[in-house]
Amino acid sequence: MNPTRYAIVPKHPAAHLFEVTLTLADPDPAGQRFTLPTWIPGSYMVREFARNIVTLSAFNEAGRTVKIEKTDKQTWQAAPVKGGTLILRYEVYAWDMSVRAAHLDDTVGFFNGTSVFLLPAGREQAACVVDIQKPAGAAYADWRVATALPEARGTKRYGFGEYRAQDYDELVDHPVTLGRFELATFKAHGVPHDIVIAGRTVRVDIDRLAADLKRICEAQIALFEPRTKKAPVERYVFMTQAVSDGYGGLEHRASTALICNRSDLPVQGRPEMSEGYRTYLGLCSHEYFHTWNVKRIKPAAFAPYDLSRENYTSLLWLFEGFTSYYDDLMLVRSGAISEADYYALLGKTVGGVLRCSGRLKQSVAESSFDAWVKYYRQDENSPNAIVSYYQKGSLVALAFDLAIRARTEHRKSLDDVMRLLWQRYGRQFYNGKMAGVGEDEVEALIAEATGVELGPLFSDAVHGTRDLPLEALFEPFAIALEPQPGNGKNGQGAADAKRDGKPSLGARVRGGAECVLAAVHDGSAAQKAGLSAGDVLIAVDGLRVTGSNLDTLLSRYLPGAAVEVHAFRRDELRVVRVKLDGPEVTRYKLIAVEAKRGAPARRARERWLQG
Ligand code: ZN
Repeated sequence: MNPTRYAIVPKHPAAHLFEVTLTLADPDPAGQRFTLPTWIPGSYMVREFARNIVTLSAFNEAGRTVKIEKTDKQTWQAAPVKGGTLILRYEVYAWDMSVRAAHLDDTVGFFNGTSVFLLPAGREQAACVVDIQKPAGAAYADWRVATALPEARGTKRYGFGEYRAQDYDELVDHPVTLGRFELATFKAHGVPHDIVIAGRTVRVDIDRLAADLKRICEAQIALFEPRTKKAPVERYVFMTQAVSDGYGGLEHRASTALICNRSDLPVQGRPEMSEGYRTYLGLCSHEYFHTWNVKRIKPAAFAPYDLSRENYTSLLWLFEGFTSYYDDLMLVRSGAISEADYYALLGKTVGGVLRCSGRLKQSVAESSFDAWVKYYRQDENSPNAIVSYYQKGSLVALAFDLAIRARTEHRKSLDDVMRLLWQRYGRQFYNGKMAGVGEDEVEALIAEATGVELGPLFSDAVHGTRDLPLEALFEPFAIALEPQPGNGKNGQGAADAKRDGKPSLGARVRGGAECVLAAVHDGSAAQKAGLSAGDVLIAVDGLRVTGSNLDTLLSRYLPGAAVEVHAFRRDELRVVRVKLDGPEVTRYKLIAVEAKRGAPARRARERWLQG
């Protein structure tokens, strides 16, 4: 089979249009069909990328038009071409500054293959060649290309020209950044890793970033391959788009596309660890961990992906939740953050899960299965209806890790489970052994890796809605879990909030000039008083309220006090009496109790946090 040839050029940066030319030397003689994916792996939502194809036409070698028509929302059918090449030319509108689709203007271009490369039906396994072309004009003379796609012969690294992929799955698993960007390279256990930062930045301390990422990457490589320290890739690219306000990442087999606040990036001459930088490192750590967990160790439902429709699995708690557990754990194990910082991050996750009553209605297995229509399509009722397979999934990982450690006298851990998953499913995934983890297989795999039968802890954690017994599981580690009440919104510390006992409405408020209720928690003061998401609060006891002064206004009352609230629902004014709730618990504090259990508990904590 001849390779599928693509050429992509940022044709009209001002109009945000890429032009793609697809050339097939041996099209289906009965008439070639083409499809575009409807979702991008890692982001479990149908996004209908084909809606961004603006114009499309087909030709034969002689330049004669070949008839082509759409047969459904993502499929095109070309008429038969007698003895020869079929050429498709189409424009893709790219104006989505996210990691999931494509973006183009005169400062930067970015695309995922799932947004721009039509798949000729029946050619999933065919090799692909992509000619990435420079936009015309002197303004683009210094643009470069960043991608983990291997260069074809004759193309220089970071240069425009031909790149290749073994098959379509590989082609669309390598996002591409075009433009001007900062670049640094480091080696992790001998393997080159690029850091690419696009967007307007000032004095980014890219050397510090490289040093921190090197430690984090090496810790992860050593976790999966403690003996050989062999990385799962030959080269890796961290590509980041820095913006004023954004956060997100998407994992790929040898790279990740990230978006972050430019204020999260480290600045030269400022060595302190800001919360933003810690968050950014956590994001990098998360996506890098996916190189093993979900890009190679996969649920059977993703082996292979079906990009034409939803792919259901109840295991995202394992692939996203366990990854969320290890992302921060790898920060502390690699020394990038302190143990105190790690405890604070865990305490925040515990608070995040316990704050929403959706956890009492949906299990992490159900949340995984319904990700397509619930987690990825959240609305004002989501806190009351769903649980995050990220947040609770990471606590499930924590619970299993602590239980395995305690029950094996700290000889085994969740690390052994990850290694077994890696050996059985991940290591050979792209070497012809494409098999994935069965939906009901995980409990037995944990027992096989560690000798521990988790039993009811497993079924309650994964399929149940009861809160995890974290206090009991922390006991052998002499760690206490303490609720930290506080509204958190106005920057007041948790300890102050507890002392003050600041009351709350039990609702999430969108900040700004208007005080809009974003979500109203089940059973809360706001709900009992008849307030709903979308209501705009006007006044509390006759004083004007805004999105930024609500906490201050409420802090003058005691929990249980009744206040009069004026609010608009649509254009209708309503006046209600709200009996204020007590302080909302937004985070928990983990405290290592030194006196208790002494040295064994301290050693247990060290083995857990130092790996
Ligand atoms: Zn993830």
